[in-house]
Amino acid sequence: MEKLELEVFVIGSGVIGLSTAIRALEAGYNVTIFAEIFPGDPKTIEYTSFWAGANHISVATYSDLMHQLERETMQTFLDLIKEDPLVPVMTRPQINYTETMTPEIQNQFNHICQFYPDSRSLDAGELPKNVVAGVTFTTICVDVPRYLPYLMERFLRAGGKACRAKVSSLSSLISESYHHPTIPRSSNPKSAAVINCTGLGALSLGDVLDTDVFPTRGETLIIRAPWVHHGMTYYNENGDISYIIPRQSGDVILGGTFQVDDWHPTSRPETVRAIKERGIRAYPELLPAGKRANPDINDLDVVAECVGLRTTRKGGIRLETTSLDVDGQTFPVIHNYGHGGAGYQTSWGSAKHAIDLLQATLKR
Ligand SMILES: Cc1cc2nc3c(=O)[nH]c(=O)nc-3n(C[C@H](O)[C@H](O)[C@H](O)COP(=O)(O)OP(=O)(O)OC[C@H]3O[C@@H](n4cnc5c(N)ncnc54)[C@H](O)[C@@H]3O)c2cc1C
Repeated sequence: MEKLELEVFVIGSGVIGLSTAIRALEAGYNVTIFAEIFPGDPKTIEYTSFWAGANHISVATYSDLMHQLERETMQTFLDLIKEDPLVPVMTRPQINYTETMTPEIQNQFNHICQFYPDSRSLDAGELPKNVVAGVTFTTICVDVPRYLPYLMERFLRAGGKACRAKVSSLSSLISESYHHPTIPRSSNPKSAAVINCTGLGALSLGDVLDTDVFPTRGETLIIRAPWVHHGMTYYNENGDISYIIPRQSGDVILGGTFQVDDWHPTSRPETVRAIKERGIRAYPELLPAGKRANPDINDLDVVAECVGLRTTRKGGIRLETTSLDVDGQTFPVIHNYGHGGAGYQTSWGSAKHAIDLLQATLKR
């Protein structure tokens, strides 16, 4: 089948849906994104991508696929920065410190030293008070509020179409959009394929209903601190994590929490206070220069309190092909969801993998 005779329906317009839809267009397909929420809409807990940090700190120790997705995404981000100086993505020095050493933290530090080419373990003389170990390397920082509209614009400029819709099931989407189209098409397609990038929506999307999907809640603060030019992850003596991610805009994300299966959509005052206290203890430079000698959380310039739900899944990312019979015809379905706390750092790799799966199934 000629590529242009295939209509590709991508469900979802988060970082995964947008990256995947761009790669599908680049592969020569006619692509329409169907989504309930798009970049630029009012902020909502149902759209995880808006709430991310987002940096690139490899968590791939447990799976070869994850490793490949993170590597490919890192390379794509580096290429984007080289090609377009205005892209809302930047490289920044990153330091990870810990006040306590556990096998998990040791594994993570060892992994970082293997993953990032310029990484190195810090010598004892370089460590601040209370810190027992540290690693430094160059990471990627994505300015999320600018990056999502950038992806959307890139998709539309390349000829993609977008349709706001709540999809009740995969079969209803095919029935209504392929067999009885309600939106204009740019070609006369012989068939269609669906790519499912619904994140937590996969829990309630008909024909999917994936009960392995669950949220990992993340509370963060946005701090105005344009003088901060590097990222930091800091494990304190209790194993609690503070992290700092600078953005091009001069805002800094200060996190955070990792609360499994917690759907609470707004910030909790006691958590906000704990994030601030841990944050200025780990990194007093979040405060204006004249306020660092006696750090006080009231001197933080807090722009917003944020809550997002990481799109986690037992078993990790679902990158898989299935099929669906609708009105006597069989349609391929590619699933691309369940990226947890790593959707940005795996986005381009996942997008490529999803299109590879689509092309493989069409060749059969
Ligand atoms: C606090 C926090 C910090 C994070 N930090 C990082 C980080 O530093 N690095 C990193 O890589 N990742 C990070 N993440 C994770 C990252 O944000 C997610 O992995 C990623 O955003 C998931 O994207 P997604 O496109 O799968 O889901 P979403 O962004 O939730 O998008 C889902 C899309 O599907 C649509 N949809 C769902 N169901 C339907 C339906 N039935 N019909 C129509 N449309 C539907 C929605 O409208 C939306 O458009 C962080 C997340 C949080 C919360």
